[in-house]
Amino acid sequence: MSDFFATIFGLGITGTAIAAALAEKGKSVLLVDPHVSENAPGALAGLVNPATGRHARLSWKSEEGISSLRNRIKKIERVTGRNDLISDSGVLRPAINEDLAQNFKESLEKYTWPEGWVKWLDTKETYHANPYVGETHGAIWLDCGFTVYVDKYLNAYRRFLRETGVVCKYESATYRQNSPADSFTIEMESGSSATCDHVIVAAGWRTPSFADWEYLKLHLVKGQIAVFEADHDLNWEHGVSAMGYGLRKGSRSIIVGSTYEHKFSDVNTTEGALSQIEKKLANMLPALKNRSKSVGQLAGVRVTTPNKLPVIGRHKDISNLCIYSGMGSKGLIYSEYTAAQLANHLVNGAEIEDDLSTDRFKDL
Ligand SMILES: Cc1cc2nc3c(=O)[nH]c(=O)nc-3n(C[C@H](O)[C@H](O)[C@H](O)COP(=O)(O)OP(=O)(O)OC[C@H]3O[C@@H](n4cnc5c(N)ncnc54)[C@H](O)[C@@H]3O)c2cc1C
Repeated sequence: MSDFFATIFGLGITGTAIAAALAEKGKSVLLVDPHVSENAPGALAGLVNPATGRHARLSWKSEEGISSLRNRIKKIERVTGRNDLISDSGVLRPAINEDLAQNFKESLEKYTWPEGWVKWLDTKETYHANPYVGETHGAIWLDCGFTVYVDKYLNAYRRFLRETGVVCKYESATYRQNSPADSFTIEMESGSSATCDHVIVAAGWRTPSFADWEYLKLHLVKGQIAVFEADHDLNWEHGVSAMGYGLRKGSRSIIVGSTYEHKFSDVNTTEGALSQIEKKLANMLPALKNRSKSVGQLAGVRVTTPNKLPVIGRHKDISNLCIYSGMGSKGLIYSEYTAAQLANHLVNGAEIEDDLSTDRFKDL
């Protein structure tokens, strides 16, 4: 018998979620990640917004996604005693031009929005909700949306996992398939080793550097955000999203994103991206244009798939080697719902939805 049911490579948004889902099913889990800890720096904030893009499209399984994410946050708060992981203050999507207003109104008609999630604000109501948006053509208000302080959330999540019995190792490791091929040996950098029945690679944009997963042809998109500080206290808390987003932190800071760079040679921040982000801020919150300055910049990389949905499931040739990746720019909404599906598959043999399964890459 193996030491662990699963070893998970990566303790970010996907790795933490699948670890918790397996642990809740009574399975023993080993987590390895050399780049983080319970006190690691990371993304400052992320938006949970189910009305996506310039058409405010209702995003995939958002009701299940938001509900399972909120449940997880409550559990983490209960175990860790934290209450600073999110700002549950809604999302304003100002229509900064007529086309957006048209799209947004169509979206409210076109999709079946859950009760109480969205409403239309006219120009006056939009200005009242946030005078910094200036002249608009109205806005969608999303009561269901919220801001997650991702660095704090993930650090608290890692502590939650440890306190609920998951073994977390903050060091490098490698896996080797045993013979017969129904288990793996994990060799830790520190010299110790363990055996497990499954390996799950949840390593974000570094997933393609695991040679076994090269066949999936995951697409990488670099993104940059910038932090701005206003010269006065800001009097709203909600996220703002209009061809970019602005998320509040502290009394004067606003985190503005993000770029979508399909071609890149490194993950450094650039001047060009900063000017793009400054334009986004000026379009979205014109009143801040001459009353804020940039005080920091961060770059990251998203992993996307052709259907823009996560990828979970088993390797085409090594059945107990699994993946959880492809979160694109919706990692937070997808994380817990998709993890539950992967855990249900691994523990109870439940089918994985075709749209998410690794099978969709089998013939590539
Ligand atoms: C600029 C930008 C803005 C974004 N904004 C939002 C937003 O507003 N809302 C939202 O929901 N999403 C947003 N996203 C997307 C979100 O960040 C991702 O979907 C999410 O981080 C993906 O989670 P992940 O677990 O796959 O990867 P990550 O969160 O990157 O975690 C991967 C982990 O694997 C570890 N790792 C790497 N290699 C190894 C290895 N060899 N062994 C062990 N561990 C390893 C890494 O250290 C890391 O901790 C944004 C992304 C970017 C780039």
